[in-house]
Amino acid sequence: MSDFASRLACTALAAGALASAVLGIGQAVAAPTAFAPGTGGLVPGLAASYTLASNEAHAQGISVWITSGKRSDAEQRQLWRNAIATYGSPEAARRWVLPAEESPHVRGEAVDVGPWEGAAWLERNGYRWGLCRTFVNEWWHFELATTPGAACPPMWPDAAVRADRRGI
Ligand SMILES: [Zn+2]
Repeated sequence: MSDFASRLACTALAAGALASAVLGIGQAVAAPTAFAPGTGGLVPGLAASYTLASNEAHAQGISVWITSGKRSDAEQRQLWRNAIATYGSPEAARRWVLPAEESPHVRGEAVDVGPWEGAAWLERNGYRWGLCRTFVNEWWHFELATTPGAACPPMWPDAAVRADRRGI
């Protein structure tokens, strides 16, 4: 199979998974070969959208991968403890790491990506699949935040500002 044909097949597979995820058909969303690495445990819409976006990035020769997706409660608690140690107080830490009960990563609703070039590509193009960078201070953090094809909303200054505003 040519490179182009294999990319096409991969995209078709992901598109099928996306349709299944959106329509809630069967267990297609759980098929591991259909999704990008690191999408396990994410909400189905995010797993499918990220997969389609990263397939397109790779087709354009851009490297992008998930550095952190779904996190367990215990993982987030450890990150929170580490952040308090690093930043000196819960108030300062909260700008960068949210407590487990507030973190979209624990809910499977966020991905951190790298390298910087891939994140920058996703910031420019992710809206096509509903993916947006959501925080000014985190170039690596993306969530489903718009209707596919519509512009992304303005970024929040940081995670703490949004959590306080939303009360979550
Ligand atoms: Zn994140």
